[in-house]
Amino acid sequence: MRLAAGSRLVLATHNAGKLREFADLLGPHRIDVVSAGQLGLPEPEETAPDFLGNARIKAIAAAEATGLAALADDSGFSVAALGGAPGVYSARWAGPSKDFAAAMARVQAEIADNPDRRAWFTCVLCLAQPDGRTASFLGRVEGSIAWPPRGAGGFGYDPVFVPHGQTRSYGEMSAAEKHQGSHRARAVAQFLAACVA
Ligand code: IMP
Repeated sequence: MRLAAGSRLVLATHNAGKLREFADLLGPHRIDVVSAGQLGLPEPEETAPDFLGNARIKAIAAAEATGLAALADDSGFSVAALGGAPGVYSARWAGPSKDFAAAMARVQAEIADNPDRRAWFTCVLCLAQPDGRTASFLGRVEGSIAWPPRGAGGFGYDPVFVPHGQTRSYGEMSAAEKHQGSHRARAVAQFLAACVA
């Protein structure tokens, strides 16, 4: 499902951290990007039980509302010792005040003395066309939990995640370093190869 050269793409997210990363990842490519916030689009309720379902809800809602192609990101942080939680509930664990210090503390409290520190980030992107066609792309990165949180970079759970093969958390890395192998960079690379390149 290729995007026509120079076509406008709505980024169906209101999350400032994700928007910053999409600006970096899509910036060098020939796509004219506008965000859902800039267009004043409402945030649809994420009622699906999985990343793919929620990415589809957000992408289809934005494509229908604007008549433009829309790209949505549903993503989350998963902890092996918690059976994959918070997962699709990653944003909700931070509550209405978006308190990620509290969400990270809850992760650590629920892990308690479990020695299994494995964790991963997942990103599912869904591209929806106004005619109803969709295409989805998955990116995942494996790593481990750091405690206490380290670094002030990034957003969300970045300060407690150290990707495999690295010693620093995403919170301690520059954006460019995080983009080397992040879940979002991997999903975007697939989207670009299939729809833009
Ligand atoms: P949603 O996709 O809007 O439901 O929210 C995803 C949530 O997962 C975000 O609010 C973050 O808490 C978390 N998350 C997703 N990607 C990242 C990331 O790259 N770094 C840190 N947290 C992330």
